[in-house]
Amino acid sequence: MNNLRIPPLLKEIALVFSAAGKEVYLVGGAVRDLLLGQNPADWDLATNARPEEVMGLFRRVIPTGIKHGTVTIRYRDVSIEVTTFRTESRYSDGRRPDEIRYASTIEEDLSRRDFTMNAAALRLPGGELADPFNGRGDIRRRLIRCVGRAEERFGEDGLRPMRAVRFAAQLDFDLEERTLAAIPGALATTARVAAERIREELDKTILSPRPQTGFIIMEETGLLKLILPELEACRGVEQRGYHRFDVLDHSLLACAYAARAGFSREVTMAALFHDLGKPAARRLDEQRGIWTFYNHEAISAALTEGILRRFRYPNAVIDRVLHLITAHMFHYEENWKDAAVRRFIMRTGTDSLEDLFRLRMADTAGMSGEDPDPRSLLPLHKRIESVLAKGGAFSLRDLAVNGRDLMAAGVAPGKRVGIILQELLEAVVDDPGLNNKEKLLEITNNINRRYINGP
Ligand code: ATP
Ligand code: MG
Repeated sequence: MNNLRIPPLLKEIALVFSAAGKEVYLVGGAVRDLLLGQNPADWDLATNARPEEVMGLFRRVIPTGIKHGTVTIRYRDVSIEVTTFRTESRYSDGRRPDEIRYASTIEEDLSRRDFTMNAAALRLPGGELADPFNGRGDIRRRLIRCVGRAEERFGEDGLRPMRAVRFAAQLDFDLEERTLAAIPGALATTARVAAERIREELDKTILSPRPQTGFIIMEETGLLKLILPELEACRGVEQRGYHRFDVLDHSLLACAYAARAGFSREVTMAALFHDLGKPAARRLDEQRGIWTFYNHEAISAALTEGILRRFRYPNAVIDRVLHLITAHMFHYEENWKDAAVRRFIMRTGTDSLEDLFRLRMADTAGMSGEDPDPRSLLPLHKRIESVLAKGGAFSLRDLAVNGRDLMAAGVAPGKRVGIILQELLEAVVDDPGLNNKEKLLEITNNINRRYINGP
């Protein structure tokens, strides 16, 4: 296997192990990537040296996962994870291994791994291949196959079906027949997996070059109904009168475009979830004979919030995704007055305009199944530029007054300050001439009196 490009740095590290009489192998995704002819993202090593021994062999070693037998060597500014050979551990809760036990051979270590393509190793420094499960053959056939009996392996760790889906989407591989057939029987185990572990695989699927590939396998095996029932409910929700795809296919096409275009995780997730509210919002317009989906964006945002909280996404991600989904139904017409453009900018927020346009591109791609014409948003783009160039207030920080000014003018501290500032902003967006301290304080007094006197 000398044709595989093993970096000199790994050979140097390997010589330290062999001088100490220890074996060391390149393992996991890096071997798979090399066999595929791709550049590995990172390097994982396996050894028969115990973690304490590895720590003694190198100057800079960090005990990053000592519970799992893993330490990280820092060598010439590269981080390399080194894990002592382990055997299959028991997963009595279907979530995490109960305990780890060290193994004495690489073969034993490889047999605990999930898929044959991830269970080949390259002996270092020479580069001889250890491949007891014929991972290389499966990589050549582009197949994801469990090491050993699929039912057993999925029953041990319910994350593995999600990993299979993720790899199918990333690599454009098929699931081998028995591996695929074992997923439905493992759903109860997958249901017990920690949300954070599922999220990691879901993220990688959504951002892969072919998210549809992953989601279709999820649908066929029942994983979609288990993990994202809100998305599964979009199957068969037809949109005659708009385009030929049902809401699920439309969402997958939109997500695939966003992933392909390299849009951010937030935009790509918004593309996947922007129409989740359609099944609930759908009404038949009998006169026109078409379906309507009024206000679906609000329902989509609420359902998406439920999903993102369930998987413990960070609040900053949740806020961004929900904002984009809530704002996605704009319809620009050339006859919009400047005030309408200013209102659009204010509602969207100047920092979100580009992302909202990206979401619209993805939404459009999801209607035709083809890449949209990048010029379609140009008229609105130009209009926004010209309106922004004229200046004015588009957010609270552009106002000629702030919260302190309002309180000095007699507004009681608390929620009311924010509410009045927002009203002032809306007034200024309609009429930029109002944006001076004197006029704004006059309006403030009027609004505040309304509060004091009641409605
Ligand atoms: P990536 O390129 O995404 O990092 P990877 O194959 O390296 O892909 P990791 O999640 O980094 O995936 O895992 C490293 C290796 O550990 C895998 O290649 C596999 O051999 C093994 N592995 C990881 N997760 C599991 C699991 N849940 N069950 C069994 N083996 C696993
Ligand atoms: Mg990896």
